Amino acid sequence: MVKSPRPDPSMVGGVVKPSYARLPEPETLFKERAQRFRTLASGHDLKPYLLFLANLCEVQHAIQDGLPAAELPAPDDLARAREFAMPPLDRNRFSADAACEATLDGLCSVIGLCELTPAAGMALQKVRAANPAALAIMMQSVLSDSVPVEAIAEHVFVAAALQVHFARLAAQLEVKSLVAVGDGICPACGGPPASSMVVDWQGAGGARFCACALCGTQWNYIRAKCSVCGSTKDVTYQEIEGGPGTIKAECCGECRTYVKVLHLQKDIALDPIADDVASLGLDLLVRETGLRRGGVNPFLIGY
Ligand SMILES: [Zn+2]
Ligand SMILES: [Zn+2]
Repeated sequence: MVKSPRPDPSMVGGVVKPSYARLPEPETLFKERAQRFRTLASGHDLKPYLLFLANLCEVQHAIQDGLPAAELPAPDDLARAREFAMPPLDRNRFSADAACEATLDGLCSVIGLCELTPAAGMALQKVRAANPAALAIMMQSVLSDSVPVEAIAEHVFVAAALQVHFARLAAQLEVKSLVAVGDGICPACGGPPASSMVVDWQGAGGARFCACALCGTQWNYIRAKCSVCGSTKDVTYQEIEGGPGTIKAECCGECRTYVKVLHLQKDIALDPIADDVASLGLDLLVRETGLRRGGVNPFLIGY
């Protein structure tokens, strides 16, 4: 493992002021992620799982055409959220509406047509057989990052449906209406990041964005700060020795967590969810140092 000191804050300050956030584009997000999972699967130790996730993302893309419109909260509620620096799509106060239920239903139907392992097939059956009350509990478990260890497989399908629903909601927000709601918290839905990215976008080159694991919103966040607790005191970076240097773990000695940083300026194809899963080897190395994951990725729970 290679350790390097944190970046010079003056260099971080030299970044041009980028837009605060980038909202998801659900019509391309999942299709591109599916392709990325498929690319990463080639020759990978986790190949069968990565191919399963590629299929799942393709389904996330394919079902959107037939879905009812995802309805934003009322304008007054959105204005109030902004006034009090609360996320407008607060996942802690979410209850499924018809569009969300149709998303989960559609996702389960279409993924059921794919070839699944017996374990994944059984998990899918459990979701399809669940009554509305049981489904509501599963959704709450995903949204509160408290998925029970013995039921991880079925929650993957629920999380995938919620990703589609929240991305379709977040896509309707306006970037200028978003305000920072706290360290390590998505300004759209209130969720934690899956990972973060140093980007090479025009007007934002070198800036770092955290990527929400749920709604897909990406928000600008200073590079020298821990993306979980906001501390700048003891942030170091670790990466796999001899690797391409495209993914590093930002390790915080204050809150004892780490979040991956994907360097898109070195590889534009990196995806904050797919590459987070495929770089599991980095998690295993960093965990040996006693740190725990600060990022949340519904496809990585249980590892
Ligand atoms: Zn979000
Ligand atoms: Zn921290």
